[in-house]
Amino acid sequence: MVSKDVEKLLLKVQKPGRYVGGELNEVIKEKDSVDVRFAFCFPDTYEVGMSHLGMKILYSLLNSKDYIWCERVFAPWIDMEKEMTDRNIPLYALESGDPVSDFDFIGFTLQYELSFSNVLNMLRLSNVPIKSSDRKDLRQIVVAGGPCACNPEPLADFIDLFFIGEGEEVDLEVIEVFRKCRKEGKSRSEFLRLCSQIEGVYVPSLYDVEYNDDGTIKSFMPKDNAPAVVHKRIMKDMNTSFYPDNFVVPLVEIVHDRAVQEIFRGCIRGCRFCQAGFIYRPVREKTPDVINEQCKKLCKNTGYDEVSLSSLSSSDYSQIVPLLEKLTEWSKDEKVSISLPSLRVDGFTDEIMNKIKTVRKSGLTFAPEAGSQRLRDVINKNVKEDELLSTCATAFDGGWTTVKLYFMIGLPTETLDDVAAIAKLGQSVVDTYYSCPNKPKGKSVRVTVSASSFVPKPFTPFQWEPQDTINDLHIKQEHIKNSITTKKIQFNYHDADTSFLEAVFARGDRKLCRILELACEKGFHFDGWNECFNLDEWLKLFEECGIDPSFYANRRRSFDEILPWDHIDYGVTKEYLIKECEKAYKNTTTPHCRLKCNNCGAAKYGEGVCFEKCKNMV
Ligand code: SF4
Repeated sequence: MVSKDVEKLLLKVQKPGRYVGGELNEVIKEKDSVDVRFAFCFPDTYEVGMSHLGMKILYSLLNSKDYIWCERVFAPWIDMEKEMTDRNIPLYALESGDPVSDFDFIGFTLQYELSFSNVLNMLRLSNVPIKSSDRKDLRQIVVAGGPCACNPEPLADFIDLFFIGEGEEVDLEVIEVFRKCRKEGKSRSEFLRLCSQIEGVYVPSLYDVEYNDDGTIKSFMPKDNAPAVVHKRIMKDMNTSFYPDNFVVPLVEIVHDRAVQEIFRGCIRGCRFCQAGFIYRPVREKTPDVINEQCKKLCKNTGYDEVSLSSLSSSDYSQIVPLLEKLTEWSKDEKVSISLPSLRVDGFTDEIMNKIKTVRKSGLTFAPEAGSQRLRDVINKNVKEDELLSTCATAFDGGWTTVKLYFMIGLPTETLDDVAAIAKLGQSVVDTYYSCPNKPKGKSVRVTVSASSFVPKPFTPFQWEPQDTINDLHIKQEHIKNSITTKKIQFNYHDADTSFLEAVFARGDRKLCRILELACEKGFHFDGWNECFNLDEWLKLFEECGIDPSFYANRRRSFDEILPWDHIDYGVTKEYLIKECEKAYKNTTTPHCRLKCNNCGAAKYGEGVCFEKCKNMV
């Protein structure tokens, strides 16, 4: 429920529906009847945040406890931010309309590095001190989780505690400690010290970092009994793990406006550039029965007529065909369509195609990632060109006419020949369409080739690699453009400037806190959006602080350098990542988890794919 002051602003801004709450299934509680108030902040717009599955899960989970009221907060778009600032209206939560500064917990999900400026800006707009050391009482506890928490160091000065790994259990444990501390009159620092003893919690203020003269890390020392290494948490049994039976249904159109059903966590593949493929290990599946029941409940409670089966790679779900059979039993009659995003080239079989064809036919998206077979072997993308072309032929025969292909440029060992191969592969897909005997009559094909720039990420075999310079990336983008000779292919590429800044923060250390603090003072926000991002302005901040951003983005690290995230453990060992990096340089691939266990380290969680029988052992 928004205040009268906010109501007056709504006619002056775009999409006022972003700022009013009141949607179907939002949770309203009596604030005096709860013990703990939690502001779940998504550091991007309403439309982006409302599409995020993690937020839906944690919002429902926290609100399932009668002593917690969790509310939603999104970054106001620039027009609304200006109106609110001009009238001294602080950032507020959608459900109660209360200022964020009133909350016990202010929690952020960190989905991408370019949202870091929004995290600080949201604290500033809430009138909450941005630095952890300036927040003194046992309230306004700023917590963060999500994939970017795997290298928490660039945000170390601002966040009180990070959740490492999956949040479903650990956030409740922290809230329990908070309730106890408040009851016993304990201080904020005592609370943080107690939390540091919980597995999966990292309290950055309890660690001292020393640097070498060359700027690399010399040592990382825990104090006050904090653990030397913080281990991630995972949900071991996905069947019994909490899953919401309803979602807040937005009033304005959002990015993914449909019910989302998680089918498994983790990925069996191990593509060497992909952070998600390593940090979410091991694969843990839900059974088809559990998924089917959860889908039915979601559709009933939200009224959605589309369910998207969510995972890192849907066709790797070991029971995908039985699952689709179960779902089509009722979804056809109820006119609910099932969508399968994240399909692999080798997972689009006739059987799957026929199942999803019965409901809705949208464009197909595949991610070969590299144009040449050599480079696909370097990155361990175990996909062959003939597999891609025969998959496309299957799709064209089945009536599809649009294909999107995702690639990356700037990958380790890449040459201009590898880059030109991207255009060639796009052309081969076009040629495949015209050679298909059963292609749709009278229609032409449309192939979209998208190239993003490779950003080396922590906890991947490429975490030691330099990123290509912006200039090199521009040369490669031009090379693809010039290599495309048909109008049937549309070429899109991602701005290299934003990828550069992403690379800086992805592998940054605590020295970057100063940069983010300055960025906040100067009002930087929405760096993931072209209309707000300005690399030159960021470079001025780096200069002002005497920090060279290419030290973080473009420098090759040695295997024995202490990395800023070395005190965090995601299960996969450093030795394994080094072995994978060395195999990349020999163009050697690694089979996926179901073909052969490669002892990455994730079996220590005692669950998931690591305990299935590998195919080559049967
Ligand atoms: S331990 Fe083996 S099966 Fe388990 S995630 Fe690692 S490589 Fe895969």
